[in-house]
Amino acid sequence: MSEDIFQGYKGKALEVLKKYNVRVWGQTTIQTTRGNFEGTVLPRAENDDDFHIVLKIATGYNIGIDIGTINEMKETGYKKANYKIPEKEFPITEGLPNVKLFGTGGTIASRLDYRTGAVIPAFSPGELYGAVPELADICNLTTEKVFAVFSENMGPKQYVALAKAIGEEIKNGIDGIVIGHGTDTLHHTGAALTFMVQNSPIPIVLVGSQRSSDRPSSDAALNLMHAMKTAGHSDIAEVMVCMFGATSDEYGLLHKGTRVRKMHSSYRSTFRTIGDIPLATVNRDKITHIKKDYKHRRKDRNVDILPYFSDKVTMIYYYPGMKPDTIDALVDNGYKGIVIVGTGLGHVNKELYPAIERATKKGVVMYMTLQTLWGFVHMFVYDTGRDMMAKGVIPTGNMLPEVAFIKLGWALGQTKDPEEIKKIMLTPINDEITKREPYNGYLIYQGGVPEVEDFIKKFRK
Ligand code: ASP
Repeated sequence: MSEDIFQGYKGKALEVLKKYNVRVWGQTTIQTTRGNFEGTVLPRAENDDDFHIVLKIATGYNIGIDIGTINEMKETGYKKANYKIPEKEFPITEGLPNVKLFGTGGTIASRLDYRTGAVIPAFSPGELYGAVPELADICNLTTEKVFAVFSENMGPKQYVALAKAIGEEIKNGIDGIVIGHGTDTLHHTGAALTFMVQNSPIPIVLVGSQRSSDRPSSDAALNLMHAMKTAGHSDIAEVMVCMFGATSDEYGLLHKGTRVRKMHSSYRSTFRTIGDIPLATVNRDKITHIKKDYKHRRKDRNVDILPYFSDKVTMIYYYPGMKPDTIDALVDNGYKGIVIVGTGLGHVNKELYPAIERATKKGVVMYMTLQTLWGFVHMFVYDTGRDMMAKGVIPTGNMLPEVAFIKLGWALGQTKDPEEIKKIMLTPINDEITKREPYNGYLIYQGGVPEVEDFIKKFRK
């Protein structure tokens, strides 16, 4: 066996592979003192240790097996993975809409790095076409990599850069915009772009994927197709999130950027509209509207780019027993806006009241949101709520905590005047505060799979 069939393995780990005649990319069963494992042996990076063998198991996860625990290994097959996607030029078809894809990173832009076995970001238009040729039937695509980060590294700077880039594309007359993005903070970016890009004449669609494209159950290709379909062909000129709707491959859901949240760490259907019903379902052939009122596509509308953000804003998730010094510390460190995520209808313990008073007296603005996510802040129901309002805490209706955080940062980026900020916070831009929440939003969309399916069927003809 030549050395390169053991890519990256050295020292003791290499000896073990040689002893059992197992190669990198070999489908292998391993018996260890901790149980038996089955999977594909992955290459290792030059800097890795020499006492683990890395297996990609059937779920798609990689596990490291300590060679000290190995009793027996057997190669049962061999399949060298080809992770280099063939690049092809994206064809231009007359009559199809022109869509711009901005890449920011995340799992949707990831593939397996054969050197390390890790999932790394990668993005190029030709690669995309090579991987998902169906995209060429939907639109004419141009792409631009704006960032290559996992979404926990997105933040105010990136929101501002993205808003400006979107503004430029709209001015150049593009028909729709798709933004590839990590799923973890997709809903923060959805809110930020809703506030920073107003009066868009065209759809702006955020899309991610829960499972990378090297996994058989990946949602990357389908989500991309749905997002391109929406950007190019839908009449909804709003900032939306487009992700798997059901647990099967049946359709994607379109959610408003201000009413959406990641609700499951691993389901592909993780994004749910909260406090409302989704805008529409989408598949490759059609977009089926669920919500009837939305902003319609209009080529002659002039977009407003409002790229403001102050990072002197923060959010605290209340827990029983929280101490006043948590708020004092934020004020002492110069924070100017605090979003509280309170219990029930919007509560915190009495112990915090003096700290709240100290904060608001120093000009720090404080807004109340809910841990329950669904429903409205009601601070008139108990006198504790009234006390807090008297101390300056402002209820935000049914605005989601992350959305309130983003909106407060956006407002503080524009003005320091508490009255102005209040006006901005409480005047909805795109349904971040609604008059009421539809009963079927909570009951049906959170009710479990059969109910969701029955409900969706009513809209699919
Ligand atoms: N951590 C990743 C991210 O948010 C997960 C994903 O893309 O789904 O960027």
